[in-house]
Amino acid sequence: MRNDRPRILTGDTPTGRLHLGHWVGSLENRVALQDEYECFFLIANMHAFTTRADKPDDIRESTLEIVKDWLACGIDPERSTFVLQTEIPAIAELSWFLAMLLPFNRVMRNPTLKHELETKGLGDNYSFGFPMYTVGQCADILVFRPELVPVGEDQLAHIEPCREVARRFNQMYCGIDPQTDDADYVEQGGVFPIPEGKVGRVARLIGTDGVNKMSKSLNNAIFLSDSFKKIKKKMGGLYTGRSAMDEPGDINNALFDYVRAFIHDKERVAELERKYADGDNIGDGHIKVEVAEAIDQMLAPMRERRAAYEGKDGDDKILALLREHTQKANDAAEETLSMAKKAMKLDFGSRALSFN
Ligand code: ATP
Ligand code: MG
Repeated sequence: MRNDRPRILTGDTPTGRLHLGHWVGSLENRVALQDEYECFFLIANMHAFTTRADKPDDIRESTLEIVKDWLACGIDPERSTFVLQTEIPAIAELSWFLAMLLPFNRVMRNPTLKHELETKGLGDNYSFGFPMYTVGQCADILVFRPELVPVGEDQLAHIEPCREVARRFNQMYCGIDPQTDDADYVEQGGVFPIPEGKVGRVARLIGTDGVNKMSKSLNNAIFLSDSFKKIKKKMGGLYTGRSAMDEPGDINNALFDYVRAFIHDKERVAELERKYADGDNIGDGHIKVEVAEAIDQMLAPMRERRAAYEGKDGDDKILALLREHTQKANDAAEETLSMAKKAMKLDFGSRALSFN
């Protein structure tokens, strides 16, 4: 069954507010593609528990903050559907079935998973649930049968198992020939399209620590809701190792990643690159302020839109929006689940899910 418009599914984990990495890696694409695609944007609040099971208050607060960030950056709730993961039972059900189609070792070898275990300091004590989020993510995506998944580069490795599982499901339960082209699975009678990842303008924005990817959990992020003062302070702390204005600098350092990502005047970027490389009387401090100003200009309208959702009233508006959208999200997810169960000979009856 084909959808009227091709679909997009992507989302964020409520482990904090959204930052510049989200904007360049995924949000910018989401805003741009809202008309062309039927969009579903997911708040992975169940997955937030994989690393923060002891912090339900934080997860709830971040859930609301993330929706505020979405609205602030131009995601339109009239055109796109917000998906609150914990209220979509079809996701949890599909996760179980898909888990059977993913080899255990394949999950544990996933490079993003390994990297997260290291950078988040989870050591050997991570929960059984943590690696399960890889499978859960396949279900998050596939339950909406999307064709496109806009993500940052770090998440591409998670799209691959999702694509594999979709092919395997279609082959095993819908009788699709394994030689079929990825683009033809649905046409041939498969339940799931094989979704493609779409990386944003900057695949992996480095954090203000100059080392790791900018990340909510790593204390190296400039948030979309930060004030100019904060942006300037965080930019100021970016380490480059360069000490004098006449010292030739490396234009492939973290500072210049920011220059190229946020200063949109190409001539100015080229001029900064030339002066920096030549050590032509230009200090890091000056460039940092220029970058901070460019970022601030971009974020100012977002902060303004966000202001409409401050305080308890703002939270109430977000909760009402989430409730309204949950019904729409469940309608779409239930349709897929029933298609999948039918293919698996599990169609014992029908059910209607209502949410209020
Ligand atoms: P956490 O530290 O909890 O993992 P995060 O900052 O990595 O949080 P996620 O919610 O895991 O954020 O990611 C949401 C989306 O944003 C994903 O598609 C991810 O690839 C993308 N993304 C996150 N950080 C960056 C970044 N620094 N550069 C580009 N894309 C990013
Ligand atoms: Mg992440």
